[in-house]
Amino acid sequence: EEKRLKESAGLPSLTKDGVGFELCANAGNLEEVRSAAEYEIDGIGLFRSEFLYMGSDHFPTEEEQFLAYKEAACLLKGKELTIRTLDIGGDKELSYWQLPREENPFLGCRAIRICLKEPDIFKPQLRAILRAGAYGNVRIMYPMITSVEEIREANKILEECKMELEGEGLPYKKDIQAGIMIETPAAVMIAEELAGEADFFSIGTNDLTQYFLAADRGNEKVAEVYNSYHPSVLRAIALTIQAAHKQGIKAGMCGEFASDEKASVLLLGMGLDEFSMSAGEISRIKSRLRETDCKAARKAADNILSQSSVKGVINCLI
Ligand code: PEP
Ligand code: MG
Repeated sequence: EEKRLKESAGLPSLTKDGVGFELCANAGNLEEVRSAAEYEIDGIGLFRSEFLYMGSDHFPTEEEQFLAYKEAACLLKGKELTIRTLDIGGDKELSYWQLPREENPFLGCRAIRICLKEPDIFKPQLRAILRAGAYGNVRIMYPMITSVEEIREANKILEECKMELEGEGLPYKKDIQAGIMIETPAAVMIAEELAGEADFFSIGTNDLTQYFLAADRGNEKVAEVYNSYHPSVLRAIALTIQAAHKQGIKAGMCGEFASDEKASVLLLGMGLDEFSMSAGEISRIKSRLRETDCKAARKAADNILSQSSVKGVINCLI
């Protein structure tokens, strides 16, 4: 196994039959960006910005955020850095900002919903990301999208931020890409329309699985229900990838499912473009995909997508 992993180092990310794939790392703080930059990666597919908010006793200022994002962008030396905008609510709370108590926080005011309601929180972050974009290959990613209006609204605020920076004479990335996470059933069902508004998709299977199966991702009592191999989740992923490609954008995945070896072969067969995961998992997935014949993976994927149960799916995995 050790040997197999070492052998794939330095070799191109190509399947046996020459189909390319991208491997990126997820990072939850600057240390993780620093260590991920040592690996052979195409970039950071998910930079969770929550660490700046949760590890502080106040809302991080634009300047504090700018310095952190700029450092991350510089560490990556031109490789892609996908910064996800604030994703609090649900299980993630801030000590210095009391959100109203909610009966169902995972179905409540979280992530983009908070940001769109609170421009004083959202704009400093967007400005900081735009400014860091002057120092590297930075992209923005909005979490928990459920409608076309949410992307339009977020992008409108992004444009306002650009105008402000322009007026202030501060350098920023004018042509920054803005993509979205696909992690709600609503987003899957309107994926084609969303793909018309977004520059890229990243599928968040941790939340997508929870919302498709109505099973809390952190509740052990429903751990058996929570399964990304459920045909509904797999078909949702396939629909999302097809919608992205139909509109000419790329589909990636930054949920845990991307680092499951058998799932990675299935996802490749479904046409996933980018796999993003903890840096430590990348060489394992890379060698597995390098050993895979993409044509065979496509055929297996078609068969798997026609299965009606998790059991049926598991039996057909290659
Ligand atoms: C996801 O939901 O799959 C995801 C990557 O985001 P998080 O785990 O941070 O909710
Ligand atoms: Mg999520």
